[in-house]
Amino acid sequence: MSRAKPPERRKMIRATVARTSRISRNFVTVTLTGEELAEFEHQGFDQCVRLFFRRDGQDILNMPTFSNNAWLAQFLLTRVTNRPWVRNYTVRAFRTDPLEMDIEFALHGDTGPASVFATSAQPGDPVGIFDEGIGYLPAADAARQLIVADESAVPAALAILEGAPETLQADVYLEVPDADDIREVETPADVTVHWLARNGSGDVPGNLALRTLRSSSFSVVPQYTWVAGESALVTGVRRYLVQEVSVPRSTVTFIGYWRYGRASPG
Ligand SMILES: Cc1cc2nc3c(=O)[nH]c(=O)nc-3n(C[C@H](O)[C@H](O)[C@H](O)COP(=O)(O)OP(=O)(O)OC[C@H]3O[C@@H](n4cnc5c(N)ncnc54)[C@H](O)[C@@H]3O)c2cc1C
Repeated sequence: MSRAKPPERRKMIRATVARTSRISRNFVTVTLTGEELAEFEHQGFDQCVRLFFRRDGQDILNMPTFSNNAWLAQFLLTRVTNRPWVRNYTVRAFRTDPLEMDIEFALHGDTGPASVFATSAQPGDPVGIFDEGIGYLPAADAARQLIVADESAVPAALAILEGAPETLQADVYLEVPDADDIREVETPADVTVHWLARNGSGDVPGNLALRTLRSSSFSVVPQYTWVAGESALVTGVRRYLVQEVSVPRSTVTFIGYWRYGRASPG
C-alpha cells in the first residue's frame, strides 16, 4: 500500500496559510503560500505531501531539517512536546502565479488535530510540506478504469479526474458524509461519477461505497483500479475485485488513507 512513485527531488518546504474557504458542510480548502513553494515539483493526480503544523501551545513550527528519509528519525528523536503534528494530505491544486497550494480537508469534528487545524486555520499560520509523490499509475493502455474513494480521498480522485485524458473511460464511486458534499465535476465524456452520501446513516465511512460496488455488475472488467480511503474500504475493494471479478492483482492500486478508530502516527 506504499506510494508507488516517490518524487525524484524533494525538500522540506515552509509555507503559511493564505486563506481558507468552505466548500460544503464537511470539506474546507486551506490555501498555502510562500516563496519556498517554488521548490515544489507538482505532478498532479493523487500527489501527496506530509503536512506539518503546530501543536496546541507551540509558538513556532519546529520542522525536521533533513530533506531525505532521515527526516523521520530526526522527527522521532525530537521530544513529543517539541514535535509538530504531521499528517498526509493530497495536493488538490497548485499554482505558480501567485505561488499557492490548495489542500482540501474532509472535516471529522474535533477528533483529529488535522481536522481541527483546517477548521481553525488563520492567515499566516506556519505549515511544513514534504513531497511524497503519486500512487495513481495506470498502464498507458488502461483506458477502462475504476476509481473508488471515501471523503478523505475525494480530493485525490477529483485531482485525478482533472488530469485525465479525454479518452478515459471510468466509473468513479465517491462516498461523502452528506448530500451537501456532492458537487458538480467536469469529466471526460465516458466517465460516470456515482456520488454516494451517507446522510447520517451512522455507517463507518467507506462501507457504503464497498456495498455499492459489490452490488454493481461489471459489464466490462476495469483494466486499472485506484481505490483510496478507510482501510477496510480499500482492502475490501481489492479482495472483491481480485477474488470475485477476476481482476489481476497487479492492476489494483489500493492505498489506506486512514483507519477507523485509530489516529495517524505522528
Ligand atoms: C496519501 C494520503 C493522502 C491523503 N489525502 C487526504 C486529503 O487530501 N484530504 C483529507 O481529508 N484526508 C486525506 N488523507 C487522510 C488523512 O491523512 C487522515 O484522515 C488523517 O488521519 C487525518 O488526521 P487527523 O489529525 O484529522 O485525525 P487522526 O488524529 O489521524 O485521527 C483521529 C480520529 O479520527 C479518525 N479519522 C481520521 N480521519 C478521518 C476521516 N477522514 N473521517 C472520519 N474519521 C477520521 C481516526 O480514525 C481517529 O479515530 C490522506 C491520507 C493519505 C495516506
